[in-house]
Amino acid sequence: MRKYLIILLVLISSCNQDSSDWIDRTKHEGLYNLDKSTSFETYCTEENPKNIENTIKNLEQAKSYFDKIFKEDLNFAVLFVDNSNWNKYAFSPPPGMPQAHYQGNMVLGLGNSVMSMRANQGLKQVPDSKLELLKQHFGKELNLDLFYRDALSLHELGHLYQFHKTGKGTQRHWLNEIFGNLCQVAGSKNLNSQDVFNQMDVYQLFLINSNKWGELKFKTLEQFENDYFEILKQGKNYGWYQTQFYLKAKELYATFGDKFVTEFRDFLIEINPDRIGRIDDKELNELMSNKLGNQVVQILEW
Ligand SMILES: [Zn+2]
Repeated sequence: MRKYLIILLVLISSCNQDSSDWIDRTKHEGLYNLDKSTSFETYCTEENPKNIENTIKNLEQAKSYFDKIFKEDLNFAVLFVDNSNWNKYAFSPPPGMPQAHYQGNMVLGLGNSVMSMRANQGLKQVPDSKLELLKQHFGKELNLDLFYRDALSLHELGHLYQFHKTGKGTQRHWLNEIFGNLCQVAGSKNLNSQDVFNQMDVYQLFLINSNKWGELKFKTLEQFENDYFEILKQGKNYGWYQTQFYLKAKELYATFGDKFVTEFRDFLIEINPDRIGRIDDKELNELMSNKLGNQVVQILEW
């Protein structure tokens, strides 16, 4: 009996280790451990940061939704990083552009991030009458960190649920980003309040309708794959792609609902190049139509 008990305990502790061990803790060096949530780990460049409670609350609700649909209890860490320390913890500027590392960490901005201040600056030439709706959702001062930190943290959380299963294996960057946007839409729709969804929707539609992108160098999916890091560096062009992915993700979620989020993640796991190798567009389309259906292929058509 005792032997069984010991074996059971060993099994339980090794399971626990499995789920928590994927977090790369070298990324936490020099950060304060905030201990702000019992659902996940929180770290910060400041000891007593302000205005992160709402982000944490949203992430807790989103985690319980994702855990339910993906049948997981994902352990992850959220790093709140101020502008001056950004490059030490994130892999891409500008400060405040949320991102997820492959091994269990997401990095979010803190305070007024450079990302949101730049975006805010870009709105200065827009006539007041056109900013009405944005001000209703982001306040008079147009606090766009509510989008870049709160709303997009759900997108990054989606990536973590993906990376936990796929590692670095990526068949297509654009499919990853459709999935990130899908998680962003589904996650926000399943929060207790619709504020985050409304903010992301109003802001993304504003960006699309005001068409302030100017000349864009890259517009195709091939370019998104081949010049991914170049596009990421050119924030504007990357932002344009994201608004297109957002529209498609919103349509997919409205059409197929929660179960599709799970199916899409399963699909990303199945087509992981570490498992099946790199496939061409024709093979990918065939797989997509077999596994997800023709309607999905149509919606995703570029
Ligand atoms: Zn993404």
